[in-house]
Amino acid sequence: MIVAIDGPAGSGKSTVAHAIAERCGLTYLDTGAMYRCVTLACLEKGISLEDTEAMAQIAREVRIEFGTSEHGQTVILNGKDVTADIRTPQIDRTVSVVSAVPEVREAMVVLQRAVGEQGSVVAEGRDIGTVVYPNAEVKVFLTANAEARAHRRAVQREGKDAATDSSATADSAKEQQILEDIRRRDELDSSRSAAPLKPAEDAHHIDSSSMGVDDVINEVIRLMEEAR
Ligand code: C5P
Repeated sequence: MIVAIDGPAGSGKSTVAHAIAERCGLTYLDTGAMYRCVTLACLEKGISLEDTEAMAQIAREVRIEFGTSEHGQTVILNGKDVTADIRTPQIDRTVSVVSAVPEVREAMVVLQRAVGEQGSVVAEGRDIGTVVYPNAEVKVFLTANAEARAHRRAVQREGKDAATDSSATADSAKEQQILEDIRRRDELDSSRSAAPLKPAEDAHHIDSSSMGVDDVINEVIRLMEEAR
């Protein structure tokens, strides 16, 4: 079975997709991490973000692998653990420029489809239900208002989890900065011409703004059972 979970930054896709993978024995595929890896490789090589051909070349050459550690999933880029390096504010700010390049997307989609051919997958991203796996048995478009998403991200950056701790707070200036970055990234991801962030026609919409994470997970599991 293929489960596609799309949605904007901070909507809870990772938490939900990861939990579904564990509970239902599916492979978890974080496609955002792949675009982050290409972005990091471009920055490390000093490639100009206007040089689309050089960015495409990097995307065709990178080796991206996923592993596990006691803290969860690890991301390995060209043999090096970059799990933390791909989640910096600098990558947050540049990834949408790199992911808007059609040839970069083509290279990533080839890798993503290869994972789907090996067995059952729950994949999260922006174009999973529309482009990567248009025949996915279950498609979810997970949203939440920008304030709720910024709050979750800010709390997460401080090592806490808003999903399990509803009273968790974060530094308000940092939260405001994250909110601005999220709004900018939503705008770039939704307005690009190559595979923009948008729900597939047959996607189930779930708004997680005021839903607990367990309720979202249970709803996706219910959709999976319905699709079997
Ligand atoms: O999901 P995450 O926030 O880690 O994604 C980082 C960025 O990667 C997104 O803002 C988007 O620009 C890009 N992305 C994409 N298509 C996907 C997944 C992520 O364009 N399927």
